[in-house]
Amino acid sequence: MHALEYSLEQTSLVRTAINLLSINQTNGIDCPGCAWPEPKPGKRHKNEYCENGAKHINDEATTRRITRKFFRDHPISELAAKSDMWLNEQGRLTEPMVKRPGSDYYEPIGFHDAFDLLAAELRGLDSPDEALFYTSGRLSNEAAFLLQLFARAYGTNNLPDCSNMCHESSGAGLGETLGVGKGSVSLDDLHEADVVLAVGLNPGTNMPRMLSALEETKRNGGHVIAVNPLPEAGLIRFKNPQKVSGILGRGTAIADQFLHIKPCGDLALFQAINALLLEAEDAAPGRVLDFEFIDTHTVGFAEFADHARQVSWSDVLDATGLSRHEIEQVAERVRASKKVVVCWAMGVTQQKHGVATVREIVNFLMLRGNLGRPGTGVCPVRGHSNVQGDRTMGIWEKMPQSFLDALEREFAFTPPSKHGLDAVDSIRAMRDSRAKLFVGFAGNFVRATPDSDVTEQAMRNCRLTAHISTKLNRSHAVCGETALVLPTLGRSDLDIQATGEQFVTVEDSMSIVHQSRGRLTPASEHLLSEVAIICRLARRTLGETPEIPWEKFESDYDVIRDAISRVVPDFDEFNDRVRNPGGFTLPNPVNDYRFNTASGKAQFTCNTFDRIQVPPGHLVLQTMRSHDQWNTVPYAPNDRYRGIRNGRRIVLINPDDIEELGLVDRQLVDLVSTWEDGVERRAEDFRVIAYPAARGSAASYYPETNVLVPLDSVADISNTPTSKGVFVRFEPVKDHGRASEVTNAMTATG
Ligand code: SF4
Repeated sequence: MHALEYSLEQTSLVRTAINLLSINQTNGIDCPGCAWPEPKPGKRHKNEYCENGAKHINDEATTRRITRKFFRDHPISELAAKSDMWLNEQGRLTEPMVKRPGSDYYEPIGFHDAFDLLAAELRGLDSPDEALFYTSGRLSNEAAFLLQLFARAYGTNNLPDCSNMCHESSGAGLGETLGVGKGSVSLDDLHEADVVLAVGLNPGTNMPRMLSALEETKRNGGHVIAVNPLPEAGLIRFKNPQKVSGILGRGTAIADQFLHIKPCGDLALFQAINALLLEAEDAAPGRVLDFEFIDTHTVGFAEFADHARQVSWSDVLDATGLSRHEIEQVAERVRASKKVVVCWAMGVTQQKHGVATVREIVNFLMLRGNLGRPGTGVCPVRGHSNVQGDRTMGIWEKMPQSFLDALEREFAFTPPSKHGLDAVDSIRAMRDSRAKLFVGFAGNFVRATPDSDVTEQAMRNCRLTAHISTKLNRSHAVCGETALVLPTLGRSDLDIQATGEQFVTVEDSMSIVHQSRGRLTPASEHLLSEVAIICRLARRTLGETPEIPWEKFESDYDVIRDAISRVVPDFDEFNDRVRNPGGFTLPNPVNDYRFNTASGKAQFTCNTFDRIQVPPGHLVLQTMRSHDQWNTVPYAPNDRYRGIRNGRRIVLINPDDIEELGLVDRQLVDLVSTWEDGVERRAEDFRVIAYPAARGSAASYYPETNVLVPLDSVADISNTPTSKGVFVRFEPVKDHGRASEVTNAMTATG
């Protein structure tokens, strides 16, 4: 009902109906809301979408339009002062716009001239490495493949993407230990698991249909253990909107056990569970661990076991905030289970030890052979709808040489082998004027990234910024000396090219590659598809490239897929297989006990956690999304699942911590983060809300609190910003008397 109300505020009944009837159906639109997979064809519900997916697809299908008059009426400096919500509400972009040097206004520019301008700037750089080509996970496989091809043919591997800020730690940890940076489970595995550990994720808001899958796990007799600093409503009790019992009843209690863990305590938790399993094996040799799996498929067990046995329980209890009994209960449950899956998201990856935590999760699963068999495996849950596919297509600053060699064979040029810049390094490069030109495909770079003040200044340092977008966002208002806004088709729009109607493809969190086909009349006759924009820009920039058929790529997306089938592993007969209902599943070698590591076996690792030294008077802040939000875009100032209304500048704190810090519920404070660089970062005017957060922790909304995350505070190895581990203190400020505006329906007790 919430979704329908929102949809009808945005667009017509007809457009709403067209979208909702086709979203996540076999021949329809892939929901851009997140990367959660659909059930197999034949098992799909007629309404195979969640509230958030419906809101998002109809937000894109809005009938509101931004015309050239809008840009005449609103100078860029004014747009920069508007909220994310206001910018999004203005509607779809309808024609290319340019900001000239020194101007405070966007003015119209045709696509032809825009490409000439951008191509001339690209050709004028001293080095291709002065350009950055950013991608958000909304880009289709076809557009992503062409973008990386263009960037490499132009001469750079500077392909930062949103994955750098979310699951890079998963890719690094899984790649090192299992040889592939993707999840190994299917929906069937989740359904038949005896135990699913859901760690550092909030499916009710970020991947809602995951809850339907966990409901099925429960129905089949499985147990769900939720691990989170906040008791997320969907995981605690879920009401399935696709069922009458879900709408009318009390819903299903999803989590059998809830571990109210401190932020960044996950590595200590898994190390402690592993120590308990080793201890149990010592007490009952041959009855706890799966030595057939360990001996046949892994290396490094002895060193790992020595290391894990030395874990300090006082450090574990301090790092996790849990009791030993709670952790023993998990170990007992795992010992009683034959099939275990671990799912995780940003709560695990966006911390200093994100990669080490993923490695320790792998250790945990390998101890009892919980890999490769039905009902077992690793499940990093992706947020952006095609973020996994974009990486498969080559959007990565350090693609393996085998991929670059395949590109060379297909297109007869030598791609650069020097690694490019990821998102954090791109900001540093713009800040230091080593990068001068930024091209962003989808996304909202300045809001999705850490250290907002630094990032915004870095963006303003650029000679030229260009954004290929469907709707207005802050990255258009915080721009370079010259700036371009190039409007493009959305997922829900019909895509007609010279050879007729086209579809694109995506890869979901469980490696299923399938079609997505928009149905709606585009927002304006001036829009180009992302594929067309890349092809035309490439032709203008690179000139004649006889071996790269940009024109054919643009007119017929089958030609792109044919090229992909010759370059990207496991995409043979792409065009045929993706036309099967539901598409096809990419193989994960882990499920055949093949490990693409140096030793050819899965790798046990030794990981060490720190006892976090939180400065006195500080809490560990995690940034999070509200329920009425899609990525950087809030749809409303509410957070229904957490009981918050009318407030985004709020900070959730445990009542005991509020008292200990000398604060009171609803007090107005500035959040001040402190870090080893000595810089104090400040987010002003946040309302303290008493909430059952884990002791010692606080939680507040992204992107408003990105300003508090230091650019250089990143996860080891993956360079992912540590947005789940920011030390903050609270400075009371003079109240403006708006306390009553924010309401909190959540019971503020543990
Ligand atoms: S779970 Fe994700 S992909 Fe599915 S409908 Fe909801 S937002 Fe869309």
